[in-house]
Amino acid sequence: MSKHFETSAIRNQTERSQFSEHSTPLYLTSSFVFDDAEEMRASFSEEKQRNLYSRFTNPNTSEFVDKVVAMEGAETGYAFATGMSAIFSSFAALLNAGDHVVSCRSVFGSTHSMFTKYLPKWNIETSYFKVDEVDLVESLIQENTKIIYIETPTNPAVDILDLALIGQIAKKHNLIFIVDNCFATPYVQQPIKFGADLVIHSATKLMDGQGRVLGGVTVGSKDLIREIYLFARNTGPAMSPFNAWVLSKSLETLALRVEKHAENALKVAQFLEENEQVSLVKYPFLKSHPQYEIAKKQMKLGGNIVAFEIKGGVEAGRNFLNKIKMCSLSANLGDTRTIVTHPSSTTHGRLSEEDRLEVGITDGLVRVSVGLENVKDIIDDLKQALQ
Ligand SMILES: *Cc1c(COP(=O)(O)O)cnc(C)c1O
Repeated sequence: MSKHFETSAIRNQTERSQFSEHSTPLYLTSSFVFDDAEEMRASFSEEKQRNLYSRFTNPNTSEFVDKVVAMEGAETGYAFATGMSAIFSSFAALLNAGDHVVSCRSVFGSTHSMFTKYLPKWNIETSYFKVDEVDLVESLIQENTKIIYIETPTNPAVDILDLALIGQIAKKHNLIFIVDNCFATPYVQQPIKFGADLVIHSATKLMDGQGRVLGGVTVGSKDLIREIYLFARNTGPAMSPFNAWVLSKSLETLALRVEKHAENALKVAQFLEENEQVSLVKYPFLKSHPQYEIAKKQMKLGGNIVAFEIKGGVEAGRNFLNKIKMCSLSANLGDTRTIVTHPSSTTHGRLSEEDRLEVGITDGLVRVSVGLENVKDIIDDLKQALQ
């Protein structure tokens, strides 16, 4: 029986124990026991599929992964301690020394550091295209290119990349197409439908949605995940069963939460578009968004991140943050609580102005992760801080 999205998120459940519990228990155990030598042999040789040791698999992490696999329309997956360990382990498992990566320049800060500081240690270079240079992607592909990597919507400028277009290019050149789908969530967008081979999430963000635990997950085809699993099994970046238990519960309400996040975010974006102190608003489902048509084609909703440009540059951006009363000044996103950040003086403060502008971070750019408070209170707070 093929289940709908919300049902998969709720009914993909670990087999009940002898206690017939309704909600999945927490399996805090490092290892699992065998009946006899033969069972132990068959399990270690993988003739028999079962849990052995929680660095490999655990009932809680498997339940969490099964849900994400169903939600993304993937074949299988593996759960990691953080989003960054999912990203790094996936690259480390699939690349060899001397390989080459093509990536959009607008990627999460630590992902960019992986490309510029760590992969070059193994002689793996990355060539970049900007969000408005998708027509350059083919010209960046070399004989040793193995992966094309993107995020959409991008952080923090909320630009949109055409998944189907990049998926076709990857297919034509036989490259592995990897998408960080963290900002959208599988409820809003399923990159595998558009040709992605692997989808990665920081589960820390909207998947948890309540700012409690860190986590990451990579899902995709059996062959690729097998390589990633073997790498992870030997190098140890596994998600903790406790975090998996929390995250699996969180996924049960993902659809509901994301619906409301997006409804609030659209209202916030519409309010900002009308405000005199604001010179530009970026939200995928605003008609004024430069890639509105692409967003409508590949996204079910506009997500929960709104970026806007405040008149008056860095000072105006910092003043705005200082006047905020209810919303949180914090680095996380996708929480029930609305969070505002000023990227040019914080998360991206160490970049040169040129590098910042390359990824769309102007001095007055503010990023809002719209939460689940009553939207009138969110707008009131933004309004008084803009005055
Ligand atoms: C937060 C984030 C990550 C990293 O995730 P962690 O769980 O913090 O390691 C990766 N990609 C995107 C788009 C993110 O927002």
